[in-house]
Amino acid sequence: MKNKDNVELLPVKKDQLYSEKTFIRHCIYDYHQNRKLDDINESFLRAAETDGFLEPLLQVKEEAVQEDGTKKKVLINYYSPHQIFIIASLSKNKVHEGQLWTHHDFDWHTKQKTRYVEWGWSGYAFNVDYAKAGTKHHTELNIFDLCKDFHNFLKLLHSLKNDRHGGFDRNKERYFNDAPSINFDFSVLTKDIFEKFSLNIDRLRLLRKTIGSFALQIDPLETWYFYIKRHPRWKKDSLKGDALLAQEIYIISDLITEVTEKLTGEKEPDLLSSVHEKFYPTLLPRDEYATGSDVKALWGTIASFKQWVTKNKDLIPDGMLQKLAEFEKELKAYEEKYEDKSYVSGISRPVEYEEKLGINDLDPSVTHYVTQFLKQQPKVDQDELKMEIASAISWRLHDLERKLWQVLDEAGEILRKKVDEAWNIEHDFGNHFWFKRKDELNKLSREEQMKLYDTEYQKAYKEAMFWSNKRDEFGKTISHINLIYCQNCRNKPVKVKSDRGDQLFYDTFICEDCLKGMDEPRMTNLAVWNCMYCGRVLYKFNYENRINDLLINKATSDIVLEYGRLKLVVRCGNRECGKINERWIDWGWTA
Ligand SMILES: [Zn+2]
Ligand SMILES: [Zn+2]
Repeated sequence: MKNKDNVELLPVKKDQLYSEKTFIRHCIYDYHQNRKLDDINESFLRAAETDGFLEPLLQVKEEAVQEDGTKKKVLINYYSPHQIFIIASLSKNKVHEGQLWTHHDFDWHTKQKTRYVEWGWSGYAFNVDYAKAGTKHHTELNIFDLCKDFHNFLKLLHSLKNDRHGGFDRNKERYFNDAPSINFDFSVLTKDIFEKFSLNIDRLRLLRKTIGSFALQIDPLETWYFYIKRHPRWKKDSLKGDALLAQEIYIISDLITEVTEKLTGEKEPDLLSSVHEKFYPTLLPRDEYATGSDVKALWGTIASFKQWVTKNKDLIPDGMLQKLAEFEKELKAYEEKYEDKSYVSGISRPVEYEEKLGINDLDPSVTHYVTQFLKQQPKVDQDELKMEIASAISWRLHDLERKLWQVLDEAGEILRKKVDEAWNIEHDFGNHFWFKRKDELNKLSREEQMKLYDTEYQKAYKEAMFWSNKRDEFGKTISHINLIYCQNCRNKPVKVKSDRGDQLFYDTFICEDCLKGMDEPRMTNLAVWNCMYCGRVLYKFNYENRINDLLINKATSDIVLEYGRLKLVVRCGNRECGKINERWIDWGWTA
């Protein structure tokens, strides 16, 4: 919207923006007046604008004092403080004759008149003219598209109410008054409003991933990402240099995440998981789902597979559903006999003894395991037999899990074939196209041929992507097969948050939703901390970073460590024991 003075009107709110001078200062200095980015000035901004990387969010005709002291109406550019993402991404370039050029091989490039611009801090550079012409390999991100999306996002963002002291979220308060307020009011945001800004959810996700991975790239504290993230914003404001710059860029990817979550009503994966979707660096902390064999997780997998089948009937090979039905009978029989079992892998579990069922009460498969064992060790005492039966029952569930996997993978194999075929066509597209359509092509002009090539290639590429996505979707559908379901609700997988070393203490697994809803978890008897020497109860509930118990004066005490590390030392109250029990709680290092 522009009025007759060519001045932009709403919806962007001017009080959330910086004038050009303030914006440049925001790029150059941090809140302690230390240098942030070098060589950012008016001509840098102009060069970035000439290419279309940058665009002021608002231009206003305002009275400004000239050098000679007179006042004159001039057009003032206003920028979002978050446009520092664009400036930082371009900051490895220099301005030459009003245009941005990479420092690398500068003399050679200027001689050749091929202008390369560096994007990000990893040395990646691209040919500006190619990118502008839209020439790109399909796997490559077009920076100009990205900048456009980012600009649209900022227009949306700054049309929202933002109240520094509005108290929407205390964690977002800033330490310095000149730091931009990030207390946006997303409550009014709807799909209708969102779509008016030429954005969609997929582009928003790509934007978050690109901006977030740039922040991770420059962040010297990357491996401490989750730990730092848990701190309130005002605490992070006291960081310096690149660590602070990274935080300012995380703010943007977090804002995008907030908008996405508001629009979809679903939680987005954490930044590290979404950036490192394919390959997760070993040094970075992550939280993972607890794995093992679990009756309810197998049922959950079957249910979500059946849901998937309703939309993908043609991908199911003959006889597969029959095999699944037979498997369900087996699983049901197991559950009826041995109850709802769940075995976590990767931890040392206490030895189990089967107290209810004797050797004559077992089903043929479990009996088979036990008799095999007895053949090797004919002389066993009663306890050893009980132990062997318990472990045979756990092995049986493990076998059932493998069996279900074999059944479901029949559909997986069909999908993998489809994916391979489609990508083979894409990789070899040129040969296929020119050779197989020779007659048809001969009748066309070169231009028409190229046009046809392009549309046909796009089709082949889309087809291949379609099957890749189908395969991934199938993988997600059956991904619960080797997970452990929450011991409280028995229908959700459980994320393991604490350090691996800590896992040894826990044989309880509770999902996030159940944990959140527990007012008095000590009543659940789910995570009792017992003395490891005599077995007496030390705390009624100790799970992850939380202890919940009754004090001697009968007041409930609920101790929750927000982040950091806590050492618990408890001397057993049993007079005959009196031994010291220790536990470390490392909290905050994973998502
Ligand atoms: Zn639960
Ligand atoms: Zn004890």
